[in-house]
Amino acid sequence: MLFNEDMLPQEPNRVSPTRYSITSGYKHYTRTINKNPTISLYLTYLYAIIISCWVTDMSGAKTEEVPEWAFEFHSHRCPFMPLGYRAGSYALKLLGIEKEKNHQTHAFSEMSDEDIGTCFDDGIQASTGCTFGKGLIHHLSYGKLAMILYRIGNRAVRIHVKDTFADSLFKKSSRFLELVKKGVGPSNISNELIDPVIDWISNMRDEDIFEYSFIEDFSYMPTRKRDTRKKCSKCGEYTYESDLKVLNDEFLCKQDYYEISRTSPSDIVT
Ligand SMILES: [Zn+2]
Ligand SMILES: [Zn+2]
Repeated sequence: MLFNEDMLPQEPNRVSPTRYSITSGYKHYTRTINKNPTISLYLTYLYAIIISCWVTDMSGAKTEEVPEWAFEFHSHRCPFMPLGYRAGSYALKLLGIEKEKNHQTHAFSEMSDEDIGTCFDDGIQASTGCTFGKGLIHHLSYGKLAMILYRIGNRAVRIHVKDTFADSLFKKSSRFLELVKKGVGPSNISNELIDPVIDWISNMRDEDIFEYSFIEDFSYMPTRKRDTRKKCSKCGEYTYESDLKVLNDEFLCKQDYYEISRTSPSDIVT
């Protein structure tokens, strides 16, 4: 689909559409059947339940459960993937956009490959649709539990895990993290140790976990390489032209080019 004005981000909508449709639907329901006293009694209970759910929602409890498929994608249960999921989801809400289906939105994780807690990035990918495969997630390598979400041509938002929340998270996950540091794989650690932490994250309001700021002048325009391919003169494998190296008028893939340069550097003329 081509980018059009309908895709521009709206101001953050703080009223959940789901909540709105439940309450308005209920009003319609009562108008039609509240003449029956038994039904009216049930409706009173129902109304009380709906109101309490609504108030609970307003207060932020059980704001967002991370879907099970995201844990399956990530392959183990840990605190950082759900945190990244929530961060990405919050960024989408603040920008007023849907999960990216195509290639218009980019996520920039402030983590790096080497940091503890990079599971955060899998959560970002799962909730935003800005995946590694689509080339839509990038590392800024600042060593922070934070991310920027940017829809091309619009403003960006930075989401940062509050230090106070991070302190509580590391405290609540201390036993789990100790075992990981000792070399135990997260998938080999009992769910009993980590599920309460995951539930705790799901029950927190976005505002209690994160702080955010909009970046009005953020700009990023990805470059796409040309899609023409040639066969490497040595291994014969197709290689995108922009990644080929030229040696003695022959096209070589990088592996073969650098292999030759290691063994006989004097052959390198280009
Ligand atoms: Zn993980
Ligand atoms: Zn080759």
